[in-house]
Amino acid sequence: AGKLYLVPTPIGNLKDMTLRAKETLENVDLIAAEDTRTTGKLLGLLGIETSGKLVSFHEFNAKEKAPELVTQILAGHSLAQVSDAGMPVISDPGYELVQSAIAANIAVVSLPGPAAFTTALIASGLTAQPFTYYGFLPRKKKQQTDFLTEISRQKETAIFYEAPHRIRATLANLGETVGLNRQVVVARELTKLHEEYLRGTVAELIEHFETVEPRGEMVVLMGGYVESEKPTATLAELAVVVDQLV
Ligand code: SAM
Repeated sequence: AGKLYLVPTPIGNLKDMTLRAKETLENVDLIAAEDTRTTGKLLGLLGIETSGKLVSFHEFNAKEKAPELVTQILAGHSLAQVSDAGMPVISDPGYELVQSAIAANIAVVSLPGPAAFTTALIASGLTAQPFTYYGFLPRKKKQQTDFLTEISRQKETAIFYEAPHRIRATLANLGETVGLNRQVVVARELTKLHEEYLRGTVAELIEHFETVEPRGEMVVLMGGYVESEKPTATLAELAVVVDQLV
């Protein structure tokens, strides 16, 4: 049988393609790509010859496609899986394929390389051990509020992916759930021309985005809960304190 290679691709800067990732894509028989056009373009820019190797594998066909790809690997073909950017599986397709490969006793080879959350974490200045990566935050206000409330007292660094058009609402919601004094970092456009780290309290970042239009790809990192922290009381918390006083 062949092997399943999980191959990371750059999150913005083409030079972050590793030598091994390039070599693997050149040598495999098949490349399962989230978007064959995006990957075709990337590989073209990197001078990687892939004619006839690209097959489509994305979130909407993953369930039916994974067993087919596994059959191909069992027949002796080596397969690399890539997403549009960064690590496969990390908020991207690949999970079903890994599961199916493991179930079929196929060797899964993970190539190290760029992922937005690790890139952001190590320069954020927040504790890197422990941390939790949550992927994209729930989009609906109620679900997001419930989720943020649930994790508000966790002590590890929390990492989220967020879209620029939602960041203002999300910061406002962080203010209401974890409090305005919590440390947050918004890491923007990593590895690209306009790379930027915005570090401060929730209140400071809300203020920043009052005058600056949020743009580009973003990772949001939130410091863990510290007991000495003076949380900005939410209305609900204030009501509890007042109850205790009277
Ligand atoms: N598989 C990717 C990885 O390994 O990070 C993540 C894919 S996910 C569909 C795309 C999200 O990742 C973006 O919306 C953004 O939140 C984050 N992201 C990707 N590239 C980024 C970059 N260069 N700078 C900041 N965030 C980035």
